[in-house]
Amino acid sequence: MGEMEDERNSQASQLFENFVQASTCKGTLQAFGVLCRQLELDPADHQGFYSSLKAAVTSWKAKALWTKLDKRASHKEYKKGQACTDTRCLIIGSGPCGLRTAIEMALLGAKVVVIEKRDTFSRNNVLHLWPFTIHDLRNLGAKKFYGKFCAGAIDHISKCIRQLQLILLKVSLIVGVEVHVNVEFLSLLEPSEEQGSDGLGWRAEIRPAGHPISDYEFDVLIGADGRRSTLDGFRRKEFRGKLAIAITANFVNRNTTAEAKVEEISGVAFIFNQKFFLELKEETGIDLENIVYYKDNTHYFVMTAKKQSLLDKGVIIHDYIETERLLHSDNVNQEALLSYAREAADFGTNYQLPSLDYAINHYGQPDVAMFDFTCMYASENAALIREKSSRQLLVALVGDSLLEPFWPMGTGCARGFLAAFDTAWMVQGWAQGKEPLEILSERESIYRLLPQTTAENIMKNFEQYTIDPATRYPNLNSSCVRPHQVRHLYINGEQS
Ligand code: FAD
Repeated sequence: MGEMEDERNSQASQLFENFVQASTCKGTLQAFGVLCRQLELDPADHQGFYSSLKAAVTSWKAKALWTKLDKRASHKEYKKGQACTDTRCLIIGSGPCGLRTAIEMALLGAKVVVIEKRDTFSRNNVLHLWPFTIHDLRNLGAKKFYGKFCAGAIDHISKCIRQLQLILLKVSLIVGVEVHVNVEFLSLLEPSEEQGSDGLGWRAEIRPAGHPISDYEFDVLIGADGRRSTLDGFRRKEFRGKLAIAITANFVNRNTTAEAKVEEISGVAFIFNQKFFLELKEETGIDLENIVYYKDNTHYFVMTAKKQSLLDKGVIIHDYIETERLLHSDNVNQEALLSYAREAADFGTNYQLPSLDYAINHYGQPDVAMFDFTCMYASENAALIREKSSRQLLVALVGDSLLEPFWPMGTGCARGFLAAFDTAWMVQGWAQGKEPLEILSERESIYRLLPQTTAENIMKNFEQYTIDPATRYPNLNSSCVRPHQVRHLYINGEQS
């Protein structure tokens, strides 16, 4: 008996370890499937799943993770996983912000389904993370999934998007989130007319059409589908700043001692280093506003370049007023761009990186890209409520869909996670039966703070952070937007 049990335990540990170590999106889902089948765990039992998994996998390594997750799950706001037991939620997109929101919803006890149109996580860009984001990810056990998590010299910064998505995907699955890849959201389907239990609730039109998720009825819908958000009803406003052209470049990291010695560059510190930029300009003709360098799987650089120097160095061929034309691939000399970014990287690291060979991106090309940040988008509102056939649906945006970030400042995940927590807070208020206009006005009041948040002006005591906004934003005024100002966000289909 004892022996059989030992064997079962060691098999469970091994299967769990395979899942923890999986290095692709598909691989993770496969390993998770095997784990559930072999241990006879039912992933559809979203509320009981985490405790069943915990009972089945008892290796010391797994236990260390359970301790972390138990601690998170003990926040009083989740009411022991009972705060949103009747809530069914659909999340569009498994980017970092969609997954981070999914985890919070699951901890609240909601049923959560994430749909993702792709089945690969391929972005190698290194992310600038704020200290609170690192803290948050550590508390979710990030280091257990990826030992190198934030091991760089600028410890609170480097991490690539792909790894981050993998960590969050694994945590999501562990806490009972259902994730479907190769499923694309097309549109929202209104409830059918019949009243009562026979009528269907809010559903989604998806591709592929026959997929079981087309029958899934939900009462919370979250758009986490990135900057080109697909959800109707949200007006987008555009921020037009001065011309800002960012260049990203990834070079092969051979992990030699010489490479290990080269210091990373944190953008924030360098912005004020005018001498560096003057010397760079004098010596190379390259004129930058900032530069960031992180060492991870690659040597990753992101810099904001001045237009004139790109013209002078032949990177941009003709000067056009419209940015789209200016940066169109026909108007960019790719070879010159490769040299420009390499030269800047070389100078920035004091010529200490032995060989700056471009890494190859998933198109098979040297990994350099130029982006226009002159116009950025933000949604005017963070949430709305739809009502049709007496059924209400709470719709919210998070991440890039809500507020497009300026990568060189690393606001993407930081503000994205803050919005994920704020959204979870709203959903728990909704589940507690707060009035729709009260929910919406509170959400909008909190959203007004988001574009102004910086790593410096949010609360410093990260350990106290919960989904309650009062734990994260100093000087919070949750009622600065009044209920009558958000009436237009309560959309009653019967009246239109
Ligand atoms: P995303 O990460 O964009 O995820 C959206 C997800 O939704 C995607 O997986 C997409 O496939 C899926 N999706 C879209 N439409 C649908 C649909 N209809 N149905 C189902 N799924 C759908 N930020 C930094 O701070 N530093 C960087 O260096 C940096 N580099 C970047 C490089 C690239 C190429 C890109 C695209 C973004 C970069 N960002 C960077 C921004 C950063 O990745 C985002 O801020 C962060 O990923 C936001 O996460 P998100 O979950 O909101 O959206």
